[in-house]
Amino acid sequence: MKTMTCRQLGGPCDLAHRGETHDDVINAQDQHLKQAEKEGDAAHQPARDEMKGRWRHPRKSLGWYREMKQAFADLPED
Ligand SMILES: [Zn+2]
Repeated sequence: MKTMTCRQLGGPCDLAHRGETHDDVINAQDQHLKQAEKEGDAAHQPARDEMKGRWRHPRKSLGWYREMKQAFADLPED
């Protein structure tokens, strides 16, 4: 398991997501951002909008996705 924070994934806070793969932490971040939006958390809104845009334009977002995959690969195991 590895840990990546909201901030490392482009968000504004230090909430930690744990997962076996980069997909796990990206999905956890997606859920976290959805929840923040529901709660009217303005600080997370830009990150939420970016994430929404990524799902809409997956091809354009490959760079970000690869970056996150690499960042996750570079992290030490917990
Ligand atoms: Zn956050």
